Amino acid sequence: MLRTVITASLPRLSRVLTCLYSASAIPKPNTQPEVHYNKLFINNDWQDAVSGRSFPTINPATGEVICQVAEADKADVDKAVKAARNAFKLGSPWRRMDASDRGLLLNRLADAIERDAAYLAELETLDNGKPYAIAYSVDLPNVVKCLRYYAGWADKWEGKTIPIDGDYFCYTRHEPIGVCGQIIPWNFPLLMQAWKLGPALATGNTVVMKVAEQTPLTALYVASLIKEVGFPEGVVNILPGMGSSAGAAIAAHMDVDKLAFTGSTEVGHLIQQASGKSNLKKVTLELGGKSPNIIMSDANMEDAVEQSHFALFFNQGQCCCAGSRTYVQADIYDEFLERSTVRAKRRVVGDPFNLNTEQGPQVDEEQFKKILGYISSGKREGAKLMCGGGEAADRGYFIQPTIFGDVQDNMTIAREEIFGPVMQILKFKTLEEVVERANDTKYGLAAAVFTRDIDKAHYISNRLRAGTVWINCYDVFGAQAPFGGYKASGNGRELGEYGLDNYTEVKTVTIKVPQKNS
Ligand code: NAP
Ligand code: MG
Repeated sequence: MLRTVITASLPRLSRVLTCLYSASAIPKPNTQPEVHYNKLFINNDWQDAVSGRSFPTINPATGEVICQVAEADKADVDKAVKAARNAFKLGSPWRRMDASDRGLLLNRLADAIERDAAYLAELETLDNGKPYAIAYSVDLPNVVKCLRYYAGWADKWEGKTIPIDGDYFCYTRHEPIGVCGQIIPWNFPLLMQAWKLGPALATGNTVVMKVAEQTPLTALYVASLIKEVGFPEGVVNILPGMGSSAGAAIAAHMDVDKLAFTGSTEVGHLIQQASGKSNLKKVTLELGGKSPNIIMSDANMEDAVEQSHFALFFNQGQCCCAGSRTYVQADIYDEFLERSTVRAKRRVVGDPFNLNTEQGPQVDEEQFKKILGYISSGKREGAKLMCGGGEAADRGYFIQPTIFGDVQDNMTIAREEIFGPVMQILKFKTLEEVVERANDTKYGLAAAVFTRDIDKAHYISNRLRAGTVWINCYDVFGAQAPFGGYKASGNGRELGEYGLDNYTEVKTVTIKVPQKNS
């Protein structure tokens, strides 16, 4: 019950979590979960890389190596694609399986993940650094819900009958596309895996997934569950490896029919180009953002401060949809800035296994340094540092919650995706002005408005060029509602019924209908 409350109340998360600890609904974590799987998962089998190579995965809270993981490259991608192609052959167990049974397998996978939720949350925290309380009470339940949602669609994704002119019977079939390459990032490793697997498997495709080099461990454990619950060989193949080798090999592969990618806009460009240069595989992209979060002067101040804090700092600031340009109307600007600073100073940063921790380390040293670089640029370009601004611990990749006031639109910190716990607070006067400034970005992933005036809320939300607009809330997700970007934030939508389109070929069948009995 408490878990349901949590997932339904993401924006109020920090407050809800406080109640939750005292209710001790979260099991005490094992801070040293055992790693059971560190090889490539191809054809329902654990394999070493063809090259024999492996790479270390790091615990970002300490900088120490957790274990070595097999490193896939092009040769392994070829093997995995072959396995996925075989699994997709006409007459294969997967192609002959009833749609309702595909749904059953997805439901069984969700059940197995739910059974092992505490262990998976421990492993996610160890490898990624996100607070265990969040991994257990937000990431895991949403993974389970996503898989169950798509399990339900497996036998309901219907075509149409179409009244074309003439004596014909015309209908459409929704068919799977084939072998789907899926490349996922490190910020929500389990959740991104579920967002990708759910719609691909519900619609009958096969998958070759490359997981992020920073966070390979939970995806491999889920692979073991995929085998356990009975998915046929080759339907899902999971490859840890580097983007520039394994990722690029999937993107350029002539026998991959579709590619779904989540990550940086830079790599999004490469993926699209690789498709164009190879077989024109269908590409969907979930990329970066610099999402505006607009606070009107009539907003509930306490709520707006808390939600805006959550909008930026949640998940160590490592969210593609982070509310990273907070626009505040002039007459409440000073008060909002002051209150936000007080809130950020209160943020609990530290050991991600401690149940009171709100913020763990950044995912790796590269991100850590990149974020510190952005903080320096904010200072250099004249923004006012209100709090934070440096490292938060003498080991691991912890950064102090940081707020910049007096931020101008042309500053680097107001234009580029920082992907860290650094909040930019900007001032605006009029509605028209803020809409124009909010849209003045190459991105268009998400946006939010805080106001008590429903007319203003509609006025702004209709004018914002963003795939998701939240009003008086932030980061509210449901497996049922589509998510994706305008402009350079991506192509296509994930989640919801819309998410099924990206994994479907539509076949039109037209049959001549004789008008006489012969
Ligand atoms: P990234 O390079 O775009 O990583 C995302 C995924 O793409 C990873 O699995 C990565 O592999 C893979 N990849 C990298 N280069 C590739 C290539 N040439 N071909 C195919 N796949 C490739 O992102 P990052 O370097 O981890 O983070 C950099 C920035 O990206 C962040 O600071 C943030 O701004 C943004 N980002 C956005 C999201 C999001 O949810 N939209 C998520 C993560 C990062 P490996 O990393 O395993 O080598
Ligand atoms: Mg790691």
